[in-house]
Amino acid sequence: MTDRYAVIGNPIAHSKSPEIHAAFARATGEDIEYTRLLAPLDGFAATVAAFRAAGGRGLNVTLPFKGEAYRLASAPTDRARTVEAVNTLSFEGTRVLGDTTDGVGLVRDVVVNLGAAIDGRRVLLVGAGGASRSVIPALLDARPAALVVVNRTVERATELERQFGGQVQAAGFATLPRRAFDIVINATSAGHADELPPLERSLFAPGALAYDMTYGKGAAAFLALARDAGAARATDGLGMLVEQAAESFFIWRGVRPDTAPVLAMLRAAA
Ligand code: NDP
Repeated sequence: MTDRYAVIGNPIAHSKSPEIHAAFARATGEDIEYTRLLAPLDGFAATVAAFRAAGGRGLNVTLPFKGEAYRLASAPTDRARTVEAVNTLSFEGTRVLGDTTDGVGLVRDVVVNLGAAIDGRRVLLVGAGGASRSVIPALLDARPAALVVVNRTVERATELERQFGGQVQAAGFATLPRRAFDIVINATSAGHADELPPLERSLFAPGALAYDMTYGKGAAAFLALARDAGAARATDGLGMLVEQAAESFFIWRGVRPDTAPVLAMLRAAA
């Protein structure tokens, strides 16, 4: 029997997850079906329940439901508990396992795919929303020399500093430390509105890696600014998307798919 999975969100038509998981399944020989599931904004739990009752085995969760998915999980992992967000649900008997794979996905893309060390480097995380919070534990595990979170609404960055016990330093755009950063990660949604966070060019150290968690057109302005500021490499978040999907696939199937061909396929189609 083919095992059923889906990505649930609102909106959901744009999601590349079905393509990614279909490619993983072909490459690993796993017998799965993976579709898109649109949930009404006030109907997340009911949509999940119906999917589960129809025999669904697991769900990826995207905007705006990651917090609700955390509350729905009867058995969240430690990393999900830390960030109070879940992007991977697994249905095992009466238990609903909840995990978050965004952080691992980002770090694997940066360290393995792009070959950029985080250990001992100065990292600037721009934005303090759900995406930023969800990647902080994995970034800290990679032992940066400093992790500064800068946000338009400074209080949200300060909240993260408090939550992570001072391992993270909060700043506003006007109060950023003068020293440049080796890795600058844009975790804002500004690009979706054709906007750009107000980042000084001097924030990019010579040879810096600039990384936008947004992918496609929405990342263009930030990546152009970074290149202009002298960043050696500037890349969007497509690799993170593929890597977080691979981690979900591993959680569900116990098999780790090769991500390079899938990322190459998506880049070629873009
Ligand atoms: P949220 O809505 O939770 O947070 C948005 C963040 O962007 C806030 O920090 C907000 O600041 C900031 N922001 C928005 N507009 C501007 C602007 N014009 N100038 C400066 N800051 C701005 O969104 P998420 O954290 O969930 O998502 C952020 C991005 O990450 C999205 O583009 C999403 O697609 C991407 N993402 C990519 C993933 C991947 O796999 N590649 C996975 C998850 C997310 P303020 O607090 O002041 O409002």
